[in-house]
Amino acid sequence: MEELKTRILQEADVISDNVLKLDGILNHQVDPQLIMNIGKEFAFRFQNEKVTKVMTIESSGISVAFATALELGVPLLFARKKRTLTTDPDSFWERVPSFTHGMVTDIVVAKKFLGPGDRILFIDDIVANGDAARALIRIIGQSQATLVGVGFVVEKAFQNGARAIRETGLRVESLVRVLSLEGGRIVFG
Ligand code: 5GP
Repeated sequence: MEELKTRILQEADVISDNVLKLDGILNHQVDPQLIMNIGKEFAFRFQNEKVTKVMTIESSGISVAFATALELGVPLLFARKKRTLTTDPDSFWERVPSFTHGMVTDIVVAKKFLGPGDRILFIDDIVANGDAARALIRIIGQSQATLVGVGFVVEKAFQNGARAIRETGLRVESLVRVLSLEGGRIVFG
């Protein structure tokens, strides 16, 4: 997606050899028009998959997953990151080590929103080692819903997450693949 590459080159900061900061367009401030275009692109790529629900993990995946769900005309269901007093006790949950926080969190999805009849498209912002994605994939597995595919806005291809998920046979679509951030330079694939 050329528009996204251009915006990343213009506005992203390379924090280290493996972290890309996208706070100006996706992870803090959000550009609604760009996000809608991202949603249209994902919806186009998965248009034939009879998706019944788009899923993501709060919070950075929500904007792009919302745009995709709106375009496909289906609900968005996001996994919550911690159990609170209002969490439905009848929930699926999985443990996930966080790439950005360096700690472990639980992700939780109420069972009443996810079941065997669902065809799920999982959309997320950035994939690094794939721990967050694998945790949500395990929840989808627990529910016996069908996972029709996974869409990442940015795949950091020098880390193993997207590759490992593809190797399980799942369809993975990344709008932008970053091959390297070495020396502060963004190299796309
Ligand atoms: P993973 O579980 O794949 O290692 O990390 C996934 C999550 O960590 C993403 O949803 C994203 O929010 C965050 N993350 C991983 N790498 C980066 C990065 O380079 N930049 C930013 N902004 N977030 C990242």
